[in-house]
Amino acid sequence: MIEDKNRPSTPLSELGEFKLIEHLTQYFSLKNPSTKKGISDDAAVLNFGDDEVVVSTDLLVEGVHFDLSYMPLKHLGYKAIMVNLSDIYAMNAQATQVIVSIAVSSRFPLEALEELYAGIKMATEIYGVDLVGGDTTSSTTGLLISVTAIGKASDDKVVYRKGAKPNDLLVVSGDLGGAYLGLQVLEREKAVFKVNPNLQPDLEPYTYIVGRQLKPEARKDIVELLQALNVKPTSMIDISDGLSSEIIHLCKQSDVGCDLYEAKIPLDPQVISTCEEFNLDSTTVALNGGEDYELLFTISQEDYSKIKGNPNLTVIGYMKEKSEGAHLVTRANTKIPLKAQGWKNFEG
Ligand code: ADP
Ligand code: MG
Repeated sequence: MIEDKNRPSTPLSELGEFKLIEHLTQYFSLKNPSTKKGISDDAAVLNFGDDEVVVSTDLLVEGVHFDLSYMPLKHLGYKAIMVNLSDIYAMNAQATQVIVSIAVSSRFPLEALEELYAGIKMATEIYGVDLVGGDTTSSTTGLLISVTAIGKASDDKVVYRKGAKPNDLLVVSGDLGGAYLGLQVLEREKAVFKVNPNLQPDLEPYTYIVGRQLKPEARKDIVELLQALNVKPTSMIDISDGLSSEIIHLCKQSDVGCDLYEAKIPLDPQVISTCEEFNLDSTTVALNGGEDYELLFTISQEDYSKIKGNPNLTVIGYMKEKSEGAHLVTRANTKIPLKAQGWKNFEG
C-alpha cells in the first residue's frame, strides 16, 4: 500500500552478492576507537582495552515481528537497530558496534534494500555505532533481519537484572503502552484498507502512538542521564515484552518481591484516549503491551533525591521481600499478583 509503482526496481540478481554488500554498505563510516576493522575482511576486529564487552542479538522475521504493509522499510531498518541497542543500554553500557544479517527473497528489489539500509544508517549515525559486518543471503519466503549489537562498560558500571534489594525503588523511563496501541491502530487501518482501498487512513490523532510503534528510540539518553546524576541502578532491564513480565524478570533474578502502583504507571494522554476508543484498559495495555523499549530499573532509597522530579523518570513501586510476591496495587488499593503474559509471538 505504500509502494510507488513508478520507482525503479532493480532485481538483486543483477548485482550478485558481493556487489550487493558493497552497494548497501558503501556509505557507512567508522566512528568508534574500539573498531579496529569493520566490513571487508573475514571478521571484524574490536579492541575494548579494560572494558567489559556486552553483546546482544535479535532476529526479526517478516510476518512475525513486522508487517511490511504498514511498516516502511526505512523505519524497519531503524527499529531493528533500536531493538538491539535497547538491550545494550539496559546493561548500563555504551553501544559501539552492530552486525546486521539479512535474508531476502527475490520479491525485494535493490531499491527496497536501499531503504532498509537508509534506516540502519540513520540509526547508526544518531546513536554513534559502527556497522562492522553481517551476512547476506537469500530466502524463499520473506525478509529476515538479524542484528547483533556490541557495547562496552567498565566492570563497576555494568548493571544486571540481578541486584535489586527489598525497599529499592522501582523506576521506569518515559511512558508505557503507546507502541502496542499504535500497532492496534495500524492493524485497524490495514483492515479498513483491505475492504476499501480508496479510504485514506487518518492517523493524525494517533501520531504519538503510531510513532512509538514505527520509530521507537532506545534510551541511550537515560543511561547518560543516570551517569550525570551519579545514580547506578541496582538492577535494570528494557521493556520489550510489557511491564509485567519485565518486573517478574527483575524479581526472579534478584530474589525479591515487588509492589507496583497502578496509579503511578506513566501514560501519555493519547494512550488514555485511544484506550477509551478501543475499549481497552490502559493498565492492561501498559502491563502487557510490549515494544515500548523504555528502561525499567531499581535504585536504592538513598538515590531518590537525585532522580526526584525528573520528567523522564517515574517511581512506580518498590521492591519487597521475595516471600511477599510481586503485585499490582490497584487504584482501589487491592493487590493483584503480576502475571507474565509470555511472548506473544509464540501464541496461537
Ligand atoms: P564470508 O563469505 O566470509 O561470509 P561475506 O562475503 O559474506 O564473507 O562478507 C564480506 C564482508 O561483508 C564481511 O566483512 C561481512 O561481515 C560483510 N557483510 C556481509 N553482508 C553484510 C551486510 N548485510 N551488512 C553489513 N555487512 C555485511
Ligand atoms: Mg557471508
